[in-house]
Amino acid sequence: MTSLDVIAYPTPASERLLAPRMLIDGELVEVGLSEMVLNPATEKPCGFMPIATRMDLDHAVEAARTAYVKGKSLTLAERQGIVANIAALLLDNVGELALLLTQEQGKPIAEAKMEVERSARWCEQVSKQKPPSRQIDDAGRDVRYVYEPIGVVGAIAPWNFPLMLAMWKVAPALVMGNSVILKPSPFTPLTVLKVGALLRTVVPPGLLNIITGNNELGPWMTEHPGIDKISFTGSTTTGRHVMAGAATTLKRLTLELGGNDPAIVFPDVDLDDVVPRLFWAAFRNSGQVCIASKRIYVHYAIYDEVLRRLAEMARTVRVGPGDDPAVQLGPIQNRMQFDRLNSLARGAREMGLKLVPEHGDEERDGYFFAPLIVDNPPDDAPVVTEEAFGPLVPLLRFHDQAEVVARANATPFGLAASVWSRDETIAQAVAAELDCGTVWINEVHALSPERPFGGRKQSGLGAEGGVEGLLEYANRKVIVGPLRA
Ligand code: NAD
Repeated sequence: MTSLDVIAYPTPASERLLAPRMLIDGELVEVGLSEMVLNPATEKPCGFMPIATRMDLDHAVEAARTAYVKGKSLTLAERQGIVANIAALLLDNVGELALLLTQEQGKPIAEAKMEVERSARWCEQVSKQKPPSRQIDDAGRDVRYVYEPIGVVGAIAPWNFPLMLAMWKVAPALVMGNSVILKPSPFTPLTVLKVGALLRTVVPPGLLNIITGNNELGPWMTEHPGIDKISFTGSTTTGRHVMAGAATTLKRLTLELGGNDPAIVFPDVDLDDVVPRLFWAAFRNSGQVCIASKRIYVHYAIYDEVLRRLAEMARTVRVGPGDDPAVQLGPIQNRMQFDRLNSLARGAREMGLKLVPEHGDEERDGYFFAPLIVDNPPDDAPVVTEEAFGPLVPLLRFHDQAEVVARANATPFGLAASVWSRDETIAQAVAAELDCGTVWINEVHALSPERPFGGRKQSGLGAEGGVEGLLEYANRKVIVGPLRA
């Protein structure tokens, strides 16, 4: 994260509506300093974010600890009920929250609405989950596995799906009996803070605290002795800092990090069906998706036609401010990311690579970047090896199965992948060879609270979703005995 988009200001009394407060111990807390949050479509302020001090964090940790201890008297059904109430509250406020989300994140309003609804559905599903009960007979003794809460969870979220990725942490942590301190990204704090103000009515004080701050707050959290676990979603680079910070107190960790997902397209696919899916796999949310298809490998027999069709879609897709209902792709979320994308594209052109389509130069405010496809760059080009995290995707020609699998796996990332073929035997064989956490066959981005999602290699540790995701928020205790006669 950089401070390019955020400037310290005294909290403006006249702009209360745009200056939501932090939630600590069930109270909306006043702070001395705020930072400006910019609308990426206009580069103008859309709100102010409170800057937590170290004392604010200590206050939140103390409140969370007390709530955790008090919360031990809650039954599983009561904790599930709290999470179900969160879901209902999100659904009751979809319109207002979606508007805020579009303003600060940039995504088209329909997608913002979908994010709020999906966050609610995720909470709803997780509220029905419970830890497994396991009892075994081991050499004449009863052995019971008991799953207990970890304590105070620090949840740190990114800016691409600010609400959904926050709720992926909050819901299972609360169901398992933990308390939570949630920190949204300083680029997109407003929707989550608004949710905090709404949730006060349904979550007991201190069980969920929401704090915001500048570059210091994340490291304070990862090192804080009063926080027992960090659940982090963000870049691999920051993930390394989180791991190092958490090492000081040996905290439990879930790390959902960056990806460079391959999509492998065999020549037997129906192009009318598959090309539009590939387009959205790469460009949805303006490419700012951890599981976006970031390297598209296409069999040489259909390569030229796939390139032509993708380029045509990229030429005609509607890019603009998310509050225009006709817009399909919003701006890049922040200046740092926008500059990085422009520099990757410039670097590719300087290498002599062909980028299609050619978009006309248009001077306008906002971090708009129309989608670009890089025509068959070499495997070691930065546009292939690095996670662009934006609407810039390499299309890569391949000849045979073994070759493409080796190239797809040749990355430090291992988040997800997709295989596209009508031949299920081929698709399953390729899926079996790919070194990543999830492989989709003839689809992409299909996530569910019913199954675990997580990365291998430098894409992360642990999982979110499913029973595995729930158990990330539990300490396992094994009770052995007594030995039966
Ligand atoms: P980021 O790593 O810059 O920031 C993520 C969060 O970490 C923010 O809240 C930020 O304030 C905080 N942070 C920054 N420095 C910190 C530190 N030293 N200690 C603790 N916290 C710190 O990521 P981003 O730019 O917001 O998000 C984009 C990245 O997230 C991409 O790489 C994307 O692939 C990844 N991502 C992964 C998943 C997944 O599930 N695997 C999902 C979404 C995004």
